[in-house]
Amino acid sequence: MQSFISSPILKVPNTGLLLKGGRVLDPSQGLDKILDVRVREGRMDEIGANLPPEGAKVINVRDLLVLPGLIDVHLHVMDGLGTFGADPDVFGVGSGVTTVVDAGSAGHSLIRVFRQHIAEPAKSRVLAYINLSTLGSVAGPGYSTLADPRLIDEERIGQAVEANRDMIVGIKVMATGTALGSQGLEPLRRARRLADSLRLPLLVHIGESWGREARPPLVGEILAHLRPGDTLTHMFTVHPGGLLDPSGKLWPEVGAARDAGILFDVGHGLHNLNFRVAQRVLDQGLEPDAVSTDGHRLNRLGPVYDLPTTMAKLMTLGFSLLEVVKMATVNAARLLGRAYELGSLEVGRVADISVLRLEEREWKAVDSQGASLTARQTLVPVLAIRNGQAYQPLPLDRP
Ligand SMILES: [Zn+2]
Repeated sequence: MQSFISSPILKVPNTGLLLKGGRVLDPSQGLDKILDVRVREGRMDEIGANLPPEGAKVINVRDLLVLPGLIDVHLHVMDGLGTFGADPDVFGVGSGVTTVVDAGSAGHSLIRVFRQHIAEPAKSRVLAYINLSTLGSVAGPGYSTLADPRLIDEERIGQAVEANRDMIVGIKVMATGTALGSQGLEPLRRARRLADSLRLPLLVHIGESWGREARPPLVGEILAHLRPGDTLTHMFTVHPGGLLDPSGKLWPEVGAARDAGILFDVGHGLHNLNFRVAQRVLDQGLEPDAVSTDGHRLNRLGPVYDLPTTMAKLMTLGFSLLEVVKMATVNAARLLGRAYELGSLEVGRVADISVLRLEEREWKAVDSQGASLTARQTLVPVLAIRNGQAYQPLPLDRP
């Protein structure tokens, strides 16, 4: 896949943009109405019926959805890292998404490179979970990156966090048998202490999709180390270490964790969205707090594609449009501890807006194991407005 640096499609004058006549759906404000949205000097200026342009460039968005800028809370966007680091703008503004959150590509040793060469040049807003391991995910997820106790350096992680508080939203922990190796749960204990001292949440990866010979910890053993506000990702994985016991019931610790305020994320990816598991989990009343692609270079052309397509897959599993928009906006912003600045079209905020088309058509939604469901609606990106600038999506053969 070619690298892509998106450029704005419109030169936006200071007098801004007027999105005319779209369906403004903003769960953070309880809005679902045909309205106009005006953006000025990069900020949300006014939302209302029949707004005068006042010199703003008018874009007709009739029959389109106008949403708070979508947030993809788990992907791998360190372009140039191994074979899978994707350009953040491919899954970001190139997919109608304004915020992308890298899930642990960089440990403390690469965080400055990540900031200078990935986050700062990107047109999309780029945030990051710092990897607990010094190695980050430099060689992909299939290695024992936490199995040597020297690979966790609390002091240096602390320094990297303090220098990048604006970008770092939490600490990523690979809780697989492969990553933990002979250390067992000790890295998780150390992550807990570190997260508490740095006042950051953990993002914990479950599901043994790489080294099949390794025994993953049971999800209950992992949850014992998590606190309210931490996130467990890959909630619909079919691989060992997932949320279901051998009889297909949720492990009892899972419901207790949800009630306590631990958050659950989809993390689709190449391996971890299984429709059958998802249906079982959902039937037992556990719903995702956030929807994410776990996108990278190797799943962009399927089965993942982009966040709008992943949202449409959840709609095929029974969620309403409002519910999936909520997951990708206000709920994602809360999960990141950024509800004060992300996930809402509130007047006065930075203008991050996603314009999508809800299409009524039949298509085949495919999960990570190749099983398919017949879907009847899909979401197609039309525009991403990031910091007041409008970007066109990249061409992509969606299913
Ligand atoms: Zn991932």
